[in-house]
Amino acid sequence: MRPIAEAYKDFPILHKEHNGHRVIYLDSGATAQIPQSVIDRVVEHMTQRNGNPHRGSHILAIEASEDYENARDRVVEFINAREREEVVFTRNSTESMNLIAHSYGLHNVKKGDKIVITVAEHHANLVTWQYVTEQTGATLEYMYLDEHGHLKDGEINKIDENTKIVAFAHVSNVLGMEFPVKELTEKAHSVGAVVVLDGAQSTPHKKIDVQELDCDFFVFSGHKMCASQGIGVLYGKRELLEAMPPFLLGGDMIEYVKEQTATFNELPYKFEAGTPNADGAVSLHAAIDYLESFGMDAIEAYEEELVAYILPKIVALPHVHVIGSQNPKEKHGVIAFTVDDVHPHDVATILDSKGICVRSGHHCAQPLGAFYNVSASTRLSMYLYTRKEDLDAFLEVLKTVRSVMG
Ligand code: PLP
Repeated sequence: MRPIAEAYKDFPILHKEHNGHRVIYLDSGATAQIPQSVIDRVVEHMTQRNGNPHRGSHILAIEASEDYENARDRVVEFINAREREEVVFTRNSTESMNLIAHSYGLHNVKKGDKIVITVAEHHANLVTWQYVTEQTGATLEYMYLDEHGHLKDGEINKIDENTKIVAFAHVSNVLGMEFPVKELTEKAHSVGAVVVLDGAQSTPHKKIDVQELDCDFFVFSGHKMCASQGIGVLYGKRELLEAMPPFLLGGDMIEYVKEQTATFNELPYKFEAGTPNADGAVSLHAAIDYLESFGMDAIEAYEEELVAYILPKIVALPHVHVIGSQNPKEKHGVIAFTVDDVHPHDVATILDSKGICVRSGHHCAQPLGAFYNVSASTRLSMYLYTRKEDLDAFLEVLKTVRSVMG
C-alpha cells in the first residue's frame, strides 16, 4: 500500500496558484480532484479505444465495450455486489435516485402508504420523494434530529406497517455524520419496506459492502471519488431491478422493437438507454484502482486523523459554531459551521482570497437548515490529498474573518 501522506503529489490541480497562493482545496464534498493516473487512463481510452460501446463489430467499438464493461466489473467488486446485473451506470447520485423514484417509487407506493426519510437529506434524496408522494397520494414523513445531529429517540418508530420506502444518507453532506444504517435497515425490513441508501458522501471515504449493509438500493457519484463528472452508479438487488420498468427509453435498453411495441434488454442494460459515458466509466475504474492503492480503510483512518486534528481547534474559536456533533469520532471529513455576524459567502470569499476553497450556502439540504434555523453555512470537506498544513492555513484565515469584516 502507498503512504497517504504522499497522495497530494498525484493531483496536478493542487499545484495551481490563485491570488499568489497555492490552491488549498477543502471542497471535496462537492467534487473531488482528479489524480494524474485517472487522467492518463481516460486519455488512453480516448486516444486508443474510443468507440460506441455495444454497437458495432469493429475493433474500436469492441475495445470501448471492453473498457466500459470492465469498469462495471470493477465497481461490482468495489462495493461487493453479488453480480454485475446489479450495477447500473448513471450520470450521478441524483440520476440514480430519480431512477429509483420513477421505476420503483411510482409503481410500489400508493395512497395511504408512507415514505420515511431524515430531515438531513440532500435534495436529491428528498425532492424525488416529494414527487413520488405527490403523484401517488402517499405521505412523506421525516425523522428528526437532536441538537447534536443524532436521530431523536423514538423517531425510528415512524417506520411502521404503512412504510414502503426508507431513504437516508449513509453520511450526511452537512453534518458529516453517519446514520445508524443497521438499525434503520433492520427496522425497515421488519415492516416490509425497502431501504434506499445515499452513498454519495460515504463511498469515497470508506469501504462499502452492499451485502453487509443489506440496503435494497445504493447510489453514489464518481466525481466525489476522484473520477470525472457525469458518471454515477445505481446498485439495486437483482429481484427488485428485474421487476422494475425502465426509466429512460431508447437505444441499447431494448431487446426487440416492432412498430407499436418493444421488449426490453436484460439487466443492467434495461436501465442504460442511449450511448453511455464510457470515458466516465473508465475514469471511475481508474479512480477505484487509485483509491485502493492506498486502501479504503487507510483512507478512512487518515481522514479521522485530520478531523481529530482540526475539529477541536474550530470548536474552540469564539463566535464559530459547528453544526451537528462536535465529537471528531462522529464526523467523516465534513465540518459545516457558522461565524457570528458574518455571512457564509463572505467567509468563503475571504478564504478564497488566500487560495482556500470551501463551500458556502445551504448545501442542497434546505429542510435541515430550516430545522436548525441556519439558512446557510460554510463547509470544509477533506479527502486523502488534504494535509494538516492545509488545515492550519484554513484555521489562520478563519481566525481573521470577523476582523476583516470590520
Ligand atoms: N447525496 C449527497 C449526500 C450529496 O452530498 C450529494 C452531492 O453533494 C448528492 C446526493 C448528489 O450528488 P450528485 O450531484 O453527484 O448527483
